[in-house]
Order: sequence, then C-alpha cells, then structure tokens
Amino acid sequence: PPHALRRYFIHIAVLLFAAIIWAETVTDLKNSPLGTALLLLSILTGATVMAMLFKGQAWCRYVCPLGKVIGAGATMSMIELRATPDLCRSCDTTACKKGRPGLRGCPVYLGAHNIKNSLDCLLCGRCVLLCERESPRLLLRNPFVELLAIKGRDLTCTFIIPFLAGSQWARFIVEDAKYQSLIPPLFGPPALSFSLLLIFCFAVFLGIITFGNRLLGMRRSSLPIHCSPMIPVLTPLAFSGELIYRLKYLLSEAGNFPTVLTRQFGLTIEHFSFVIPASAISLLEILILALGCLGSFYVIALFRQKQSESGQTGFCRSLQILVSSVAIVYFLLIG
Ligand code: SF4
Ligand code: SF4
Repeated sequence: PPHALRRYFIHIAVLLFAAIIWAETVTDLKNSPLGTALLLLSILTGATVMAMLFKGQAWCRYVCPLGKVIGAGATMSMIELRATPDLCRSCDTTACKKGRPGLRGCPVYLGAHNIKNSLDCLLCGRCVLLCERESPRLLLRNPFVELLAIKGRDLTCTFIIPFLAGSQWARFIVEDAKYQSLIPPLFGPPALSFSLLLIFCFAVFLGIITFGNRLLGMRRSSLPIHCSPMIPVLTPLAFSGELIYRLKYLLSEAGNFPTVLTRQFGLTIEHFSFVIPASAISLLEILILALGCLGSFYVIALFRQKQSESGQTGFCRSLQILVSSVAIVYFLLIG
C-alpha cells in the first residue's frame, strides 16, 4: 500500500480492535458460536478485500487488529529471528523477502534483513529456507530488552497497550455480580453502561501514563502517550491481564471440550468430561499476574539502570508506587 495510506491503517487496526472488544462483551460473543463465526467471517472478508487491492499480505501486516495485538505481545518474546548484517550487506538477491524461482518470499513482504523488532515478523521461518547464505538466525534473548529499545515509539503499542489494559479493567468489572446488579439499572441498556465504563477505564490508563510521564520528568508533547516509557512499563501487566481473562474462560470450559468434539461425530461420550477446580484456576491467575508485575518492575529497573549510566535522573519511588497501585487494582479485579 502507498506510504500515506499505511499511516492510517494503524488507526483503523486499533479502532477495529476496540470494536471487537466492545462487541465481544456486549453480545456475549464467547458464548455465541454464531457471533464468533460472523467475527471470523468479517476478518476473512477484510483479508480478502485487502489481498485484492494490495500485495504482500497487507491485511496481516497493517490492518489485522488481532495481528497487531499479537505483534505487540511478541515484543516480549524470549526468541527472535534476526539476520546477520555482515552476510546481508553484499546480498543482491534479497531472496528472504522476494523469494526464489518456484518459492514464494516472506509472507508479509518484510524479509529477515529488514527485521528491526518482533512486531511484524510472523516467525514463520520461511526466510531461513530462502536465504542461501544462512544469514537468518533464531536467537534466545532477554524478553524485556525489545520493550526498552522500542520505548513506546511504535504507534501500535502506543494505542493498543492503554486500550488493552483499560478494557481488561472494564471487562473484569462488568463480570462482577455487584456491577451487574447495580450499574445497568442506573445507566440503561448494558451496551451503553459498558461503553461508558470502557471509555472511563481507557481514560484512567491515559491518565496513569500521563502521570507516569510527569514522574519521569517528561515534557508535555502533543500526544502525551506517544514515546512514553510508561508503555513498555505497562506492557507486561497488560498482557498478563489479557492472558488471565482468556485463560479463565478457556480453563473453566476445557473439561467440556472432549464431549463437544465427540458429539460432532455423532458420539456421546459424557464420561470424558472433567472439571478444573476453580481454586486451581485462581492460583494460576495469581501466578500469571505476579509474573506480569515482576516484568513491569524489571522494565522499570532496566530504564533506571540505563538512565543512571547516561547520568540522567528522573526515576523515582513514586513511579514504582504508581505501578504497584495498578497491579493492586488488577489483583482486586481478578479476586
Ligand atoms: S537474509 Fe539472506 S537473502 Fe535476506 S538479505 Fe540477508 S543474505 Fe540476502
Ligand atoms: S520469519 Fe517469516 S515473517 Fe519473519 S521475516 Fe522471515 S519469512 Fe518474513
């Protein structure tokens, strides 16, 4: 796609992601096979239309909201695929990107030599097959270093992280029995009350990021959340929150899966059903959230180390207190 268009695609992707989260909650999508099928059909339609208009899997690379979230999560991956610059310097084929006769190139038209971060690479390994110089390598890494390198500069993370975290708070609150008995009668239809709650929680996270910027001594910019170190700090917490939200439903329903699967083949094998105890699921949730908190504090420590190496000041205990407060709210909401 033309470069001018690409800038708008990221905003479209974030809006689509917001629409999916909103629709998922107000239509109870996870309990609706028809709704889930319609969502998948819409994604397929979007991908087909984009494939007809542009080459290089433009949908996956620029617009797919789920791909953007997965890409943002991949910035915390323990592995990365990277080319060896010395081997690529004199390469005139760039087969990793364009392919070779009879072999298609990189599915997202990126190529190993262009990988700067893990946001766009699908880690499919195709470039390993295509490169004749054995340049692309799969490497182990510190999962938080890339967060530090991107430092909130990437627009995907800039918008996705506060929305992801804010929407989790809204989704956890909306599933609470007290909310269900108190709020909808006050604010009318559930869709309206959830929309207001979603906007409120998103605004709370924007406020947290702006406040964190002040604690870090950052000057105001036209877009306060862009380039904010608070984005990488909050990323581990945001993804652990999402994992908890998804796992809770998956694990509580996992025991029915064998029965549902066998039913598709006309069999009724009820005795294959099992139940994962709620206490085990709760324990797992606490563990995941604790890991997310550790990740966020580790990113703060990395920033602090980097700043003290360059003689800068700005990090303070207040930032740790701020992130601890966010973590406590998460613990209260999942409890
Ligand atoms: S990864 Fe291989 S094919 Fe791609 S630019 Fe480097 S040397 Fe060339
Ligand atoms: S791993 Fe796959 S997506 Fe990533 S650069 Fe290589 S071919 Fe492209």
